[in-house]
Amino acid sequence: MRITTCGASGGEVTGSCYLVETARARVLVDCGAFQGHGPKDDALNADLGPVAPASLDAVVLTHAHLDHCGRLPILARRGLACPVHCTEATIDFATLVIEDAARIQESDTARENKYRRREGKPDIEPPFTRDDAARLRPLARGVPYLEWREIAPGVSVRFSDAGHILGSSHVEMRLEEAGATRTVVFSADIGRWNTPFLRDPTLLTSTKADVVFMESTYGDRDHRSQDETIREFREIIEKAIWAKEKILIPAFAIGRTQHILFHLAEMVRSGVLPEFPIYLDSPMAIKATELYAKHQDLFDQHAADLARRRQFSRDLRHLEFLESVEQSQALNDRHECCIVIAGSGMCEGGRIVHHLRHNLWRKGVSVVMVGYASAGSLGRQLIDRAPEVQIHRRTIPVRATIHTLGGFSAHAGQTELLRWLEPLAAHKPRVFLTHGEDKPRTALAAAIKSRFGVEASLPGRFETIEF
Ligand SMILES: [Zn+2]
Ligand SMILES: [Zn+2]
Repeated sequence: MRITTCGASGGEVTGSCYLVETARARVLVDCGAFQGHGPKDDALNADLGPVAPASLDAVVLTHAHLDHCGRLPILARRGLACPVHCTEATIDFATLVIEDAARIQESDTARENKYRRREGKPDIEPPFTRDDAARLRPLARGVPYLEWREIAPGVSVRFSDAGHILGSSHVEMRLEEAGATRTVVFSADIGRWNTPFLRDPTLLTSTKADVVFMESTYGDRDHRSQDETIREFREIIEKAIWAKEKILIPAFAIGRTQHILFHLAEMVRSGVLPEFPIYLDSPMAIKATELYAKHQDLFDQHAADLARRRQFSRDLRHLEFLESVEQSQALNDRHECCIVIAGSGMCEGGRIVHHLRHNLWRKGVSVVMVGYASAGSLGRQLIDRAPEVQIHRRTIPVRATIHTLGGFSAHAGQTELLRWLEPLAAHKPRVFLTHGEDKPRTALAAAIKSRFGVEASLPGRFETIEF
């Protein structure tokens, strides 16, 4: 039996993908897109390495973030025909994410071809289209949490709630080959304890894993506490109200956006904030918010109670959904105090880029970074306090105040990662750290060694692990 890391390895956070091979089956766990390398992303995404889509027996999808599902339409384009197993919520969210990515690929390619034709160059094809995305839909199979399913000869999986986004999963995989059985655990993205809407990550207390693949995004640090973060967030908003200024929040459409709305609703409800305009300027985030309502059965107790009482819509009476581009553009000429939540979270595309172009040079404007931004992305440049940035081939000076609120992260910090690993570490599995830059994963490996006496390896891209 062997597993090859085909992404989110070698110090990469994005592009999650594992190829699992036994004598009887070939299964893929996730097939995410590489993000944040600019034009290099296309080449990275096109190189599937040893993954031959038509030869796969099954695909397992841990959750709907693009860095886990973004290459599935490329697989579909290249002959994927096997079932894709994930939770029902993940089917809904991933459909949304993949369709959106396909639409962006089509429009980017159309724009590129316009330039190419002027230069007398031949047209290029998009890496995938909405047709490829549509080919995935009939392959999707919904799997409930905590039930074992045989997905290929000698390969069974069980999903459990990872507390990262709605529908996200840890995956336990049982592999049988020539009378031997091995258990592999894929942590996928591990969420945090006490996050709005979400249940806590699942501790796999009864699992005796031989091999564990574990994420390490924030392996070298703990986030600020949620309470502290909420207080900081409130202070930023209070200041902006006083200065009558705009607040821009780049946020992932799924998860982060709803968490921000949750905290804003709490602040309004408890009377610490006056009611003021909030714009959700992202058609995708609007749809995702509707899907949150559809999958209320996955909410934790507190959110389920609030939802039952329809409390969110009462608190957020001043929340406006901006569907059209015209509505979004109209915000550029308005300089009153308001909050604009728009995607993408890393500021690599989407409507937030236009808001940043029109507002970054303005003193008084606040930009609140609430999530991870990979090296090289516009979001990371802002977090790293770049004095000026390039947007749409223009140099924009950064005079706005950039706030980074790490406490809203959807990823476990070091202490939480160790808490998650603890029950598995008791059985001394082989541990492989993925989904992290080298600094955090090296630090996490050291923490695992000193805490549990377990040696953790740091696999490279296309490295094969035999067991
Ligand atoms: Zn994720
Ligand atoms: Zn991820």
